[in-house]
Amino acid sequence: MNIEKVAIIGLGLLGGSIGLAVQARAPHIATSGYDSSPAARAKAAERGLVGRVYDSAEEAVRGADLVILCVPVGAMREAAMAIADVLPPHAIVSDVGSSKQSVAEDLAAALPGATVIPAHPVAGTEQSGPEAGFATLFENRWCILTPPAGAEQAAVDTLAEFWRTLGARIEIMDPQHHDLVLAVTSHIPHLIAYTIVGTASDLEDVTRSEVIKYSAGGFRDFTRIAASDPVMWRDVFLHNKSAVLEMLGRFTEDLTALQRAIRSGDGETLHELFSRTRAIRRGIIEEGQDDERPDFGREH
Ligand code: NAP
Repeated sequence: MNIEKVAIIGLGLLGGSIGLAVQARAPHIATSGYDSSPAARAKAAERGLVGRVYDSAEEAVRGADLVILCVPVGAMREAAMAIADVLPPHAIVSDVGSSKQSVAEDLAAALPGATVIPAHPVAGTEQSGPEAGFATLFENRWCILTPPAGAEQAAVDTLAEFWRTLGARIEIMDPQHHDLVLAVTSHIPHLIAYTIVGTASDLEDVTRSEVIKYSAGGFRDFTRIAASDPVMWRDVFLHNKSAVLEMLGRFTEDLTALQRAIRSGDGETLHELFSRTRAIRRGIIEEGQDDERPDFGREH
């Protein structure tokens, strides 16, 4: 199936980036968009994030071949219900939510009979809103599709091709497995960052100005992640609850083992772990998923 028009619901970082990427890399595809925030709609129109910004979701999806929901995972059901009555029968509905099991259930419940292929582009920044989007966000990043059992192969192929056009690499995964993988690669790291930054800000015997002044010791890299959108991340933890709790259990056990090693002066355990983890960093760089220059290529 050819996509001639894509409708984007939610014009923040992800929605805005999709709109800009389509216009840059596939200008033959028309783009329309809607956001529940009037301020976001005005900014999206000003930045030209999509060809046309509408004042209702119903108008935005009219005539669309592909509709992508780019709202927080806790708002997916409501966003899907808003288009249920006007969705063109042939349209593919997808999303970009960071957790997949709950979103798949919400979309299936809100859009019975529709062709729903959930997806998650593993690409983002700590910024949010209509000012944050940029056209190259998905280049060389993975986009994980989680088609439901029995999904139409042609629809999966069409969606995969759409994401490849935006520069992404495609992986197909079971939603449950997706949620477990992303719990450890994304959700737990965010929880750790929120925790360490919160702990530092609550300390009484270290001043706030000291925390900021000496942040180059490692702390500032956590603050980037901990500056991520609070609504988005609240929803991720509420909606990927079981996978996050499972991985958090594993993490807590490993942390306790390190605590024991430090207390008992077991340098061998510490050295063995710290050597193993360096290999992961090398693998990420070899895969082209990060900058190999020291300190992420920051200028000093
Ligand atoms: P964002 O920048 O905050 O944009 C979301 C936009 O959707 C906001 O303007 C929001 O308006 C609007 N919205 C909320 N409910 C809506 C509704 N029912 N109908 C229409 N618009 C609605 O968020 P984002 O970073 O683009 O994230 C969007 C989705 O992408 C989330 O599901 C997230 O899990 C996923 N994701 C994010 C990243 C990342 O790094 N940020 C990466 C991959 C996937 P209000 O602000 O007024 O609520």
